[in-house]
Amino acid sequence: MRDFSQFIREVPDFPKPGIVFKDITPLIGSPAAFHRVIDAFTLHYKYETIDIVVGIEARGFIFGTALAYRLGAAFVPIRKQGKLPYKTLETTYDLEYGTDTMAIHRDAIRKNSKVLICDDVLATGGTLAASIDLVKKLEGDIVGVTVLIELTKLNGREKVPYDDIFSLIKYEY
Ligand code: AMP
Repeated sequence: MRDFSQFIREVPDFPKPGIVFKDITPLIGSPAAFHRVIDAFTLHYKYETIDIVVGIEARGFIFGTALAYRLGAAFVPIRKQGKLPYKTLETTYDLEYGTDTMAIHRDAIRKNSKVLICDDVLATGGTLAASIDLVKKLEGDIVGVTVLIELTKLNGREKVPYDDIFSLIKYEY
């Protein structure tokens, strides 16, 4: 089962006209597919030293927590503004649809911790770029950036200041 794309449902015009939403719920709703996706991420990073997996709200939590568990790493959430209860560091950025402000707890990453950042979709790259910015400001050492799905046509990699992005499914359109 290497073709994980069969488990991604494409929903046209959600949440706005013109956006084809990549719905991951069929994938996480299949025990075998979910297991194999986490196995594939784990295999890719198992020889790296990773102290923390940072997952991006909300679907980055699903893959990030499972991956943190498998790698024996901690999990740190990056959340939308106003959701985290303690002192936060924040950054505002452009989305494929709209703008957003993301936040991380100021004490979430110890200086020089080895950090892997995880999300579900790389679209325009703004979300990952903002997350990298937050981790760098906390002086984490980014050792990986990974997504389940990459929408290559949007050239998100150009916006993300990290070269070695690992994606499991690529859409060329
Ligand atoms: P971007 O900042 O443009 O790379 O957008 C990435 C974020 O928006 C991710 O957290 C995704 O969950 C979400 N996203 C963007 N485009 C889509 C899409 N076509 N389908 C599903 N999620 C998307």
